[in-house]
Amino acid sequence: MLDKGVITTTEDPQMFGHPKGLFYLFFAELWERFSFYGMRALLTLYMVQEIFKAIAERDTATAIVYASYGSLVYASTVIGGQISDKILGMRSSIFLGGILMAIGHFVLAIESDVAFFLALSLIVVGNGFFKPNISTFVGALYKEGDVRKDSGFTIFYMGINIGGFVAPLLCGWLAATYGWHYGFGLAGIGMLAGLIFFWSGIKKNVFGDKGMPPSQEIYEKRVLGIPQKTLIPIIAVLFVPVIAYLLSSWQQNYVSGIFKFIGFAVLVYLGYIMYSLDVVARKKLFMAVLITFFMTLFWGFHELSGSVITLFASRNVDLDGIMTASQTNALNSMFIIILAIPISLLWGYLSKNKLNPRTPYKFGLGLLLAGASFYILSISGASADENGMVPFAYLLVMYFIISIGELFMSPVGLSKITDLSPRNIVAFMMGVWFLSSAFAFQIVGFISEQLAIESTDANVGGLDTLSVYTDGFHLIALYSLGAGAIVLLFSPLMKKLMGNVH
Ligand code: GLN
Repeated sequence: MLDKGVITTTEDPQMFGHPKGLFYLFFAELWERFSFYGMRALLTLYMVQEIFKAIAERDTATAIVYASYGSLVYASTVIGGQISDKILGMRSSIFLGGILMAIGHFVLAIESDVAFFLALSLIVVGNGFFKPNISTFVGALYKEGDVRKDSGFTIFYMGINIGGFVAPLLCGWLAATYGWHYGFGLAGIGMLAGLIFFWSGIKKNVFGDKGMPPSQEIYEKRVLGIPQKTLIPIIAVLFVPVIAYLLSSWQQNYVSGIFKFIGFAVLVYLGYIMYSLDVVARKKLFMAVLITFFMTLFWGFHELSGSVITLFASRNVDLDGIMTASQTNALNSMFIIILAIPISLLWGYLSKNKLNPRTPYKFGLGLLLAGASFYILSISGASADENGMVPFAYLLVMYFIISIGELFMSPVGLSKITDLSPRNIVAFMMGVWFLSSAFAFQIVGFISEQLAIESTDANVGGLDTLSVYTDGFHLIALYSLGAGAIVLLFSPLMKKLMGNVH
């Protein structure tokens, strides 16, 4: 029996009180994130120790390629989401994206520099089709007003982080024991597993009629003599060498230039929209833009985990016998799994007592927590041994604190964006929201370049690098704490701007 007030999609099969399709999407996304984060855990060290090992600016090159990859992998979701909405539908988009990503991971298992950039590019294009559509698919399983939707998304976020937790451990272990390419290969197998789950869901008809193309006519419509359903995958594949070229020309850093232009264009467009809105809508949209801006800042510090923090872990953290530097990438997801339910219960409890802090306060606290987490890393130098190695506990505590910050901001922000944006630009604002992760990687690139260590010595680290990192972390802590304090200071004003949106 279902609770009173639950609106169900009666035509779709149910399981554990949720649409059965959720569990197929859960496992498909779990395995996709397994491949994504398994690969990400290896990426920076692989570049420093293999791809760029012969050049002294290898940290700089790695910082730029990592940032460009991260920016493009999130920016492509904006395009993938639009193409799915207008032409392909979610099912075909997810298949197309999943197949491209799986090929990308397998190409990474080939030992060659050309293969490396082509592989990253395949993942960029593939993720663009996969990631936004699998998330939208979750939403589509519930009818509007279904009270189970939020808990459906919480379950789904768990899947993401189970993948993000297990993959760095396994891929990191394989890479360290048998070689990098085994680690990358396992990521590819993970992606295939994700596709199989999705495919079996379709075979078992658990998705009902969801995720089909918006119009069969448009789907089949011929452009240049080729049906759109075939033309889009062809164009997607044609983009792969172009993106590979952009990624490989790190000296020119074209991607950074492109993102400066996109950022400018988005701001101009938003300015134009705001100008044409009435006062109330303008205030709300302004708030949505602010929320996205703070989220960008937060991810900009958070996403350092795969780059500078992984290098710090490999060069200055005493990991002896605990885990490898790649494996430390599992810690964030581990804490999310542990903390997600307690924190959502906390919001529920506070709500009941009318004490649930409003969004601006949560965002201010989230940035303060990010600052505190980097502060912990910045003082770790005081406990370093004579070889410049700091105790692992600092890294563990850092990840614990920043993960709480993530839970204060990320799940809250998404739903607020939908509430605050004018109806006709909600889809555009969703794109801007995803772009916030893309821009965050430009912050990651900037910081990682500042903290680059010029050396071709494979064993560089210890006392030579410790203060570079701890001084850098100190500055990041100050910026993040400062930003958090400003947000808290202006929270009463922001509260007014948000009107009745909590
Ligand atoms: N960890 C989350 C995911 O992988 C969010 C990452 C992000 O948006 N930067 O889906």
